Amino acid sequence: MSKHGKVYLVGAGPGDPGLITVRGRQCIEQADVLIYDYLAAETFLHYAPPDAQRIYVGKKAGQHTLQQEKINQLIVAKAQQGKNVVRLKGGDPFVFGRGGEEAQELAQADIEFEIVPGVTAGVAAPAYAGIPVTHRDYASDFALITGHEDASRTGETQIDWEALGRWKGTLAFYMGVKNLPLICANLQKHGMASDTPAALIGWGTTPRQRTLTAAIATLPDLAEQQNFQPPAIILIGHVVKLRDQLNWFENRPLFGRRIIVTRSRVQASELTEKLTRLGAEVIECPTIRIEPPEDVAPLQQAIEDLPKYDWLILTSVNGVEAFFNQLIAAGYDARRLANIKVCTIGPATAQKMKDYGIRPDLVPERYVSESVLDAFKKGGKVLKKRILLARSDISRKDLPVGLSEMGAEVDDVVSYRTVRDESGKDQAVRAIEADEVDWVTFTSSSTVRNFLGIIGLEKLTGKKLKIASIGPITSDTIEKAGFRVDVEAEEYTIDGLVEGILRGSKK
Ligand code: SAH
Repeated sequence: MSKHGKVYLVGAGPGDPGLITVRGRQCIEQADVLIYDYLAAETFLHYAPPDAQRIYVGKKAGQHTLQQEKINQLIVAKAQQGKNVVRLKGGDPFVFGRGGEEAQELAQADIEFEIVPGVTAGVAAPAYAGIPVTHRDYASDFALITGHEDASRTGETQIDWEALGRWKGTLAFYMGVKNLPLICANLQKHGMASDTPAALIGWGTTPRQRTLTAAIATLPDLAEQQNFQPPAIILIGHVVKLRDQLNWFENRPLFGRRIIVTRSRVQASELTEKLTRLGAEVIECPTIRIEPPEDVAPLQQAIEDLPKYDWLILTSVNGVEAFFNQLIAAGYDARRLANIKVCTIGPATAQKMKDYGIRPDLVPERYVSESVLDAFKKGGKVLKKRILLARSDISRKDLPVGLSEMGAEVDDVVSYRTVRDESGKDQAVRAIEADEVDWVTFTSSSTVRNFLGIIGLEKLTGKKLKIASIGPITSDTIEKAGFRVDVEAEEYTIDGLVEGILRGSKK
């Protein structure tokens, strides 16, 4: 056996990060070196181990970052250093991806390799446009063709235009946007009926997907008028007619909407995922990051003193996590809460608590202090009881004050801190300035304040964007900052917020 590393030529799929294979993802998760190009989704870079080397070798039309030969040399060199290399390629590595050449290079250099096929754009983009590439009534064969070849240089063509002109099934041209007029002209010249249906599908399977359909005689003009840009698949054949009936992806309720999510990155995923699945393009602009308190002593002390308390109140998912992190760090587990009653605010916080094995005794539905105080009035009996409130450094005081007024002894300790995060700022600002944002979502008052602080009030005024708020307190903060709340969640949860955006997006 050589001491060389192994090289994995992995298909990343056509754009939707959900379309990478299980094997492909496994390979990235174990890579020492990840070599990728420009169509590869950002998400995949996060699958690699934190210390893996990530090397960008993408080429945008006309702007070659690294020549193919240099890429080959790079892959070989890394493998010879004993590294496991993942060469991530758009779609399938062996379909117009030069994966074949890269594999040959590896074979010659005697480097072990594995090919992980991917979902190719010529099948996936049509599927997301509602076009099956084969169908018993419309197409019994399917060809993949490069559209990159300059077909005007007669005599040099590798493409059998005569066969394609007679083709009864489906044709998918890759890399053909620039040559679209030539391709359509050639097909007609070689006998294809000029009214044969065709589709041009750009950025297939991504939130930016765009589809034009027309007969081959008119598609080039239409594409030109609309200034259609690559990457795109040109799909030709009678199957295109099925799109009228099967166009599922572009018909999703939030398709084409750009939405800014302002939660911390760790927390954003649920909202991001839900909006994405409904068709939206999500821009994550976290405004805060959760960090431990500057001084953990009060929380540590409270955990030591836990048996003295009658109630523990946790007000957020972050609060539950921070509390348990500290509890576990101190050498305890959920049994430390055996003799103490637990109150959590809202269903998400209660669920988080259950994840740790604790079923809360009291769950006020609404994330407002009055609702908590009410719940205690009805079922809590707090007179002379000792209550531990463990929450963020920026929490409002009305809850502890209200409880004290009801006769409780309250200790309000800081269990986590929220600090500013500007890592998503540039992308968000660019989209806002171009007036390409449809919604901004807010899940707490602090994110409102931080977002406005980071982005700047003036950038938001006079834009088409709408504002979605998770509940009345957050809405109040938005309105005090001088903005109108377009929708407020009926249930103060992520699902409620998504529901609100759906309501507010109906035309
Ligand atoms: N190996 C890739 C193809 C690489 S060639 C695959 O199997 O899909 C690059 C061409 O693929 C582009 O010019 C375009 O024609 C097509 N392509 C790649 N991603 C695409 C997408 N998301 N939507 C439409 N076409 C795409």
